[in-house]
Amino acid sequence: MFEFVGAIHIHSNYSDGTGDVRTIAEIASEVGLDFIILTDHNTLRAKDEGFERMYGNTMLLVGVEINDKENLNHYLAFNVEEAFSTRQLAVEYVKQVKNSGGIGFLAHPHEKRNSMPEHPPFPWTAWESEDFTGIEIWNHMSEWMETLTEENKYNHFIHPLKTIKNPPQETLEKWDELNQKRLVVGIGGIDAHAHKVNLLGFFEVEVFPYKVLFKSIRTHILTEKKLSKQNTTNSNEKNKQIIYNALEKGRCFIANSYYGDAKGFRFVAEVEGKIFNMGETIPLSEKILLKVESSDENSEIKLIRNGKLIFEEVGKEAKFLVNLSGVYRVEVYKENSAWIFSNPIRIGI
Ligand SMILES: [Zn+2]
Ligand SMILES: [Zn+2]
Repeated sequence: MFEFVGAIHIHSNYSDGTGDVRTIAEIASEVGLDFIILTDHNTLRAKDEGFERMYGNTMLLVGVEINDKENLNHYLAFNVEEAFSTRQLAVEYVKQVKNSGGIGFLAHPHEKRNSMPEHPPFPWTAWESEDFTGIEIWNHMSEWMETLTEENKYNHFIHPLKTIKNPPQETLEKWDELNQKRLVVGIGGIDAHAHKVNLLGFFEVEVFPYKVLFKSIRTHILTEKKLSKQNTTNSNEKNKQIIYNALEKGRCFIANSYYGDAKGFRFVAEVEGKIFNMGETIPLSEKILLKVESSDENSEIKLIRNGKLIFEEVGKEAKFLVNLSGVYRVEVYKENSAWIFSNPIRIGI
């Protein structure tokens, strides 16, 4: 299997970001990302204008962040040809994305930020919807703002990466609960805007430069085919389907790259010599061995079953023999901060 690393959930100046699409993509290539997914609010303009292609070593894909008329229920829609109307209920656009062959993820579902009045929280409320592919379980921008206080604001502005510690517990709980019924894929988002904020009253600071955020929360995908760097319409279309397919199947994991390059992390189930990957649902049988590999020997590896910690080990790898059905996933910590979140392997459900 091949592994590719990407950043998801990015705003350009086609909505409320400050960077132009080409510059954003070039920065991503410089930083070493294999793909990025642009998600401007309610517009696919970057796609319509032909920006969906390779830039150096980076494949730029154009999705869209849709909201409803109350500006709630932000939905990251990928592999779609239209932006869908915001004058309808979230359940409707979630369904339309699916029916048109696209995939979609609930953005920052439990957002609670209140430190900046001009950036209110936009939580997900339409939980009756069942047609979404997954959830953005970790959003850099939301966490950064939620932990911002009058006392720590200078530190926060100066160290935008250091302040990211953990996805919201509430989101993880909901994610585990939903996976009891069907596969709900987790992805990570940066929600990059490169906002310019007037910090001390007399000078403007770019709060989240794209370059800095590209070193934060990344989504790694595992694929059977390699991404092509040819940059022809045909090969770019193939790249796009390879990336979206991995996200749809849950063959991916999320990592805060500030704590180290997570490349090489694996979580698989081995049954009689056969390997099953993240995102798969397999029957319960007698000899299922869950195997975790990490790229760092100081990894605090935690195995979670149905939302509960069942096994913990420090090291580069861990093995666990399964005898109960359930939703299994892995969290890896470093220096008391969350580093890697796998997608689940669902067993016997
Ligand atoms: Zn949003
Ligand atoms: Zn956003």
